[in-house]
Amino acid sequence: MSQRKIITTCTRDCPNSCGLVATVEDGKLVKLSGDPNHPLTGGVACHKTAKYVKRVYSAERITHPLRKVDGRWQRASWDEVLDLLADKLKTVVAESGPEAVLYYQGYGERTALKLLNKYFFNLLGGATTMRGSLCGGAGQGAQNLDFGDRVSHDPLDHYNSNSMVLWARNPASTNISLVKIARDIRKRGGRVVVVDPARSRSVDFATDHIRPKPGRDGCLAMAASKLILKAGAEDRDFLENRAVGWPEYKAILDAFSVPELCSMAGVPVSDAELLADTLMHQHPTSILLGWGLHRHEYAHYAIRPIDALGGIAGTLGVPGGGVSQGFEEYGPYDQTYWGDGLHPNQRTLVIGKVGEEILNARDPEIRVIVVTAGNPVCMAPNSSRIVEAFGKAEMVVYSGHFMDDTAELADVFLPATTFLEEDDLMASYGHNFVGPVNPAIEPVGETKSEFQMFQELAARFPFAGEYRRSVDEWLETICTPLWEQGATLEELRKGPFRLNAPMVPYADGTFPTESGKFQLMTEFDPSVLEDDDPDFPYKFLTIAPHGYICSERTLAEHEALPSIRLATGEAHKRGLKDGDHVLVRSAYGSLLALLRVDEGMRSDVVIAERGGWNKAGHGFNLLTRDMVSVVGQGTPFYETRVTIEPHPEDPVIGSRVLVVQNSDESPGGHFTKELARMGCVLTTLNPAGGDPLPPTPEGYDRLVVLGGPQHAFDDEAGPYFPALLRLMRDFDAAGKPVAGICLGCQLLARAFGASIWTMPELEFGYVALSLTESGEGDPVLGQAGPIPPLMEFHEDSFDLPEGAVLLAESEACAHQSFRIGRASYGFQFHLELDSLGAERWFEEFQNERIGTYAKYRSQFTDEFFADMRSRFPLLVQQSGDFCRKVAVNWLRLAVES
Ligand code: SF4
Repeated sequence: MSQRKIITTCTRDCPNSCGLVATVEDGKLVKLSGDPNHPLTGGVACHKTAKYVKRVYSAERITHPLRKVDGRWQRASWDEVLDLLADKLKTVVAESGPEAVLYYQGYGERTALKLLNKYFFNLLGGATTMRGSLCGGAGQGAQNLDFGDRVSHDPLDHYNSNSMVLWARNPASTNISLVKIARDIRKRGGRVVVVDPARSRSVDFATDHIRPKPGRDGCLAMAASKLILKAGAEDRDFLENRAVGWPEYKAILDAFSVPELCSMAGVPVSDAELLADTLMHQHPTSILLGWGLHRHEYAHYAIRPIDALGGIAGTLGVPGGGVSQGFEEYGPYDQTYWGDGLHPNQRTLVIGKVGEEILNARDPEIRVIVVTAGNPVCMAPNSSRIVEAFGKAEMVVYSGHFMDDTAELADVFLPATTFLEEDDLMASYGHNFVGPVNPAIEPVGETKSEFQMFQELAARFPFAGEYRRSVDEWLETICTPLWEQGATLEELRKGPFRLNAPMVPYADGTFPTESGKFQLMTEFDPSVLEDDDPDFPYKFLTIAPHGYICSERTLAEHEALPSIRLATGEAHKRGLKDGDHVLVRSAYGSLLALLRVDEGMRSDVVIAERGGWNKAGHGFNLLTRDMVSVVGQGTPFYETRVTIEPHPEDPVIGSRVLVVQNSDESPGGHFTKELARMGCVLTTLNPAGGDPLPPTPEGYDRLVVLGGPQHAFDDEAGPYFPALLRLMRDFDAAGKPVAGICLGCQLLARAFGASIWTMPELEFGYVALSLTESGEGDPVLGQAGPIPPLMEFHEDSFDLPEGAVLLAESEACAHQSFRIGRASYGFQFHLELDSLGAERWFEEFQNERIGTYAKYRSQFTDEFFADMRSRFPLLVQQSGDFCRKVAVNWLRLAVES
C-alpha cells in the first residue's frame, strides 16, 4: 500500500480557510486533518472536514456530464455539453447581446483561478453578473463608512486581547480557529462575551451571554458607550483628534437614556454594564462581528455604533483590540483578470433579489443562466421567485457536485472537481494567509475543474487565444501582487504565505477616509427598527448550520423534517410541545417543521439552521423576504417575520404510521422520510431487537414493513413473523393500508396465503424493471412516472397470492410488485434506498461482509461493481425521485380509500 500526505487548503465557504493535510492511500483520499504547521490552523480543522472525504466519493456526487432531454437527465460527453453551451451562447449573444446571459458566481471555493470564470464572460462581450452579497455586504459597507476601508485585526493578534466580545459570531460552528484563542483569553482570566439573540454553541465556552433583540445591537452598543462616557473612561484623544462627527454622535447618544437604549435593545441594563465594564477593565478587548449582524435592512445601525464603541473604549489601532469583521479574499490577486475593465458598464443584478431581478430584466431579457459554485435556489431569499425566474430561462447551466435545488432546474450539469482534485491558490476572508490548493487525488469520474471547463469552452470561441494558458502561467499572472510581496509559486505550493497586511490596522491613528479620521455615525432614526407585526410575531433567524457548510450536503443526509427552535413559554402559549409538527408561516410561504422548545431563547424569535434543500422539505428560504440592505447591498434575511401554528387538521397530516424495521441494515430511507415530510407521525418498532408488536392496528392508521436478511418463511429466525402476518392482515381488513418492502413484500404475500421460496441466484444491484399493464394504470406505481432501475438485494421470491394484481416485473424475478386487499402494496425492490444505504451495501457485499449473502459474491465480477458505481449518481437520484412519488401516491391513495 502506498501512502502520501499532501498539504492543501480548504476552499469551502468558511472564514478559516484551514491549512489541511490530505492522506491518500493507493490513490484514494482516506483522511483530511488540520495542518499542524499552519500558523492559524495549528492542526485543528473542523468536524465538517472529516466528513468531506465521504462527500468526495458520495454515491450522489455527479461525476459525469448530464443534459436534460424531455425533462429527464441523460449522461452526455463533455464535447456534447460544451458544444451545446457554446452554440447557445453564440446564438443568444448574436440575437440579444451578451447581457442576455447571466453569470451567477456563487461563494463556494473563492480561489485565485476563479477570477477567470468571469473573465470568460467578459471576453464573451460582458454578460450580466450579480452585485451585492448574500453574506457580509451590509457590514462591509458600514465599516467602509467608518474606517474608510474595512481592515481587520489579524486573528493571531487576538492573543494580545484581555477580553473578547463575539458579537453575533459563533466560532464553535463557523470559525473554529478562534475557539482556542477565546479559550486562551479565558485561561488568562479574561471575559469572553457572546452577544447573540440565539444560544449558539459558543456560549458553552463563553463567560457571559447577552441576547439582544435581533437588529437592535446598535442600541446595546450605544448604551455601553454612554456608560463608558459616564465613567469618564472614554478615549478622549480618539474622539477629539482621530474621529469626525463626535458632536453629532454625542447628540444621538444624549437623545436616549441608558435604560431607554437597553429597552430598545431588549436587554436589561446590567447587560450594557457588563459590556462597558469588560471594555473598561479588561482592556484591550477584541470585538469580532459575525455574519448574523449583516442580515438586517438597517444593519449599519447595528454595526456603526459597535465600531464607535470600539473607538470610545480606546481599542482601535491597539494590539488585542479593534472591531474586526473580515478580510478581502480576492485582495491578493490582480483583479484586472475579472475582466470588468473590458465592459465597465455591464449590467449587474442585485443578489438579494435575484429572482425578481431576473424576471424584471429587460432589453435584453435573461435567456441563459450559468451558475458555478452556488445554490441560489436554496440559499438566496424567496426561493419560489427564483424557481420562477430560472424556469423562464431558455437554458440553465449548472456547475457543481450534487443534484441540489439549483441543479435540479438546470438543463446541463457540468460536474466539477472538489478542491482536493484541483491545483490553485486560496486566500481567506477570515485571515491573512494565502495557502496552496494542491491536487491530492485524480479527478473522480469525468469531473473537471471550472478552470478546465472554461478553458475548453473558450476554445470554441474566437477569443480562445486570450484565455488559453496553463495553471502555472495563469497563477504567475494573476498573483503578481503576491510575488511583489516576496512569495513564489514554488514556495507557496509547500505551505501558507502571510500577506503583507497589518497585525493591527490603523495603529498609526489614521484611517483611509477622506479626512484621514474615523467617521462616526451622524444620523440615527430608531423608528425604522420598529417592525412588530401581530400576525407574524417572531423574527425568523436562519443561522449557519453546525454540521454543514451552507447547502453542502447530500439528499440522504437530510433529516425527514427540518427543526425550528421556539422559546418554551411561547410554545406553551400556543398549545405546542417539543416534538410537535408545526407549520412555520411567513408572508411568502409556509413549511412543515419539527418543533424544538428551548428554555434559553428570546420569546420574539424563531431559530432554524439554514442550508437544507427545498427538495428535501428543508427550504427555509421559501419563507424569506427578498430585499436589499440600506447600506452595502447586503441581504436582510432576518427581516422575515413568521408565525408558528399547529399543523392544520388534514387526513394525511398527523396520520399515525407504524413502521416495522426488521433489521438495522434496512432503514426506511426515502420512503419513511417522505411520509414524515407529508406530516405523518411515525412509530418505528424493531421486533427483531425485542420491541413487542401491538396486538391490533388500533392507534395506527397505516403500516410499513421494511426489509431484512431473514427468510420470510423462517419463523425460527423471525419468531414474531406470525404476529406480524396477522397484524398485516388486520390492518388491511380495517382499511388501513400496508406497504411491504423486500422482506416486507414477501411477508405481505405470505400474509395473504402465498408461498415464499429461494431463487437459484441472488438478485443484486440496480435492475431494469417494467410495469405490467395493471401497473401502468395503478394509482401508486403508474402515477409515479416511468419506473427507473431500482435496487434489488434478495435471494427469495414468492408466488402471487390469490386476488393480487401484479404491477411490476424484472427479468430475473417475475414478481416485483403487487397490490392486494383494500390498499396494500408489496414492493420487492428497495425503492427506499438512499445514497448512504447504497454505498454501504455495495461496499459490504463486494467485500463479503454482509452475512448470509456473502456466499453469492462470486456471482458478481469486480467490473460489475465498477460499472454500477460509475452509474450511481443517476441511479440513486432517479430511484430517490421515484420513491418519493410512490410514497406520496400511496399516502394519497390511502386517504381516498
Ligand atoms: S470548513 Fe472551515 S473550519 Fe472546516 S476545514 Fe474548511 S476552512 Fe477549516
